[in-house]
Amino acid sequence: MARLHNFNAGPSILPLPVLEEAQRNLVDHQGLGLSVLEMSHRSAAFEAIVERAKASLRRLLSLPDDYEILFLQGGASLQFAMVPLNLDAGGAYVNTGVWSKKAIAEAKRTGRAPQVIWSGEANGFRAVPRPDERLDTGGAPWLHYTSNNTIYGTQWHHVPQVDVPLVCDMSSDFLSAPIDPRPYGLIYAGAQKNAGPSGVTVVVGRRDLLGAFRGPATTPTMLRYDTHLEAGSLYNTPPTFGIWICALVFDWIEAQGGLAGIARKNEEKARLLYEVIDRRSDLFRGHADPACRSTMNVTFTLPTPELEQRFLAAAEAKGCIGLAGHRLVGGLRASIYNAMPLESVEVLADLMDRWQP
Ligand code: PMP
Repeated sequence: MARLHNFNAGPSILPLPVLEEAQRNLVDHQGLGLSVLEMSHRSAAFEAIVERAKASLRRLLSLPDDYEILFLQGGASLQFAMVPLNLDAGGAYVNTGVWSKKAIAEAKRTGRAPQVIWSGEANGFRAVPRPDERLDTGGAPWLHYTSNNTIYGTQWHHVPQVDVPLVCDMSSDFLSAPIDPRPYGLIYAGAQKNAGPSGVTVVVGRRDLLGAFRGPATTPTMLRYDTHLEAGSLYNTPPTFGIWICALVFDWIEAQGGLAGIARKNEEKARLLYEVIDRRSDLFRGHADPACRSTMNVTFTLPTPELEQRFLAAAEAKGCIGLAGHRLVGGLRASIYNAMPLESVEVLADLMDRWQP
């Protein structure tokens, strides 16, 4: 079987050993005589899966004891609303692109006015705040930012230095490199890039923040973190199959040398593509300021949309799919998440090196 070079932004490529392990156990999960797809979420077998997923994620992140892991649904998009609904009123927000803007828009809907303290909009979202740039949170109790901007291909390579807890949308670079969890009050990520399949949203947060609901009494039960915290992510039927795949992905990351091992591979892959973009600047123009280039989503344009279409066709002929940029910004985007093999990136880099319009 020939697998495609899958550069989709999410849902995206999963590690082949994970797919194979899932396939081996799909019909009969570890000799239990049923599939995870058919298992009760209240069974001992499924509880073991959730516990295993949490334990390996905890190890990967070196998570302190006062942090908890939740497996939720509704995507990162639902977190845009749950964060301001659950936490203290009015967070500070950094606007680094489409997803930050959506988070800000949802915060406004909760009636708890967010303060937008930095915006990259005037600059075409080519950059995120510099490490030496002071962010004034204006008395807000927490700061929200998007660590990797999937659409624009920019990424924070430092942690914002503020004296309030950070709330971070890590959807597109979660588990791509080591982090220190301590500055974070809450991290959330749709699983469908680095952590597993779509349908699972991972929330990692300090127990005191997750457990101390500060929202209006009218907030629906399902939208409260304390509901899910108290029920160990089993308040209602969770995305059972997806959580199992996440557990397999976490194990696979551990086998790659953990987050440090995976980060080295991610840097190598990104370097290959940025080098060719810089070398062939006659043909390719990177979108992001070089200091803010993402290791996950490499965004670039060609001189005309027509040339972009021709390049996409040439790439597809080599088995490279998913390279069209997001519908809102156009251009091209190579998403090279954890599971993307170096060999696939080499195929694309080689084509970019040699291609003649
Ligand atoms: N935040 C970021 C950074 C994203 O890349 C995405 C999806 N591409 C989202 C939020 C929205 O995620 P979901 O589709 O899981 O709601």
